[in-house]
Amino acid sequence: MFRFFRIKYVRRRAYTHSRRLYLAHKESARALVSERLTYFNQHYGLPLGKVSIRNQKSRWGSCSKKGNLNFNYKLVFLAPELRDYVIVHEICHVKEFNHGQGFWDLVAQKVPEHRTMRHKLRKVVLDQRQILQTETSRPNFLQPQILQK
Ligand SMILES: [Zn+2]
Repeated sequence: MFRFFRIKYVRRRAYTHSRRLYLAHKESARALVSERLTYFNQHYGLPLGKVSIRNQKSRWGSCSKKGNLNFNYKLVFLAPELRDYVIVHEICHVKEFNHGQGFWDLVAQKVPEHRTMRHKLRKVVLDQRQILQTETSRPNFLQPQILQK
């Protein structure tokens, strides 16, 4: 019984942290994303739909068939080149709704080193505890980490 309540309490606290961080950074994420979207879409000139900033566990961004774009608020904690790669990636999905050669050629127009970016991004841990540390000790970017197996 005690165990059960304790698990519930820890989960609830984690949820509150997550929500608090999301609300604290949502608007700066929106401003940043919108600035970078405008910048890169001067090149691509694609019809972008609605843009949403979300609190997602495991995705940096996504694009719907209608061209609506979703981005994770945690982009604000990413190194600029990784964040730009995510943004270019989603812009390019408006034209190429797959990961075929055509898609990657499009991405390469603005991010020629996209393979490296993708590799680095996979190693970034989407962990809110890390964000909390980043916030308090060093208001800097999440760094790619070597994941332990
Ligand atoms: Zn994709």
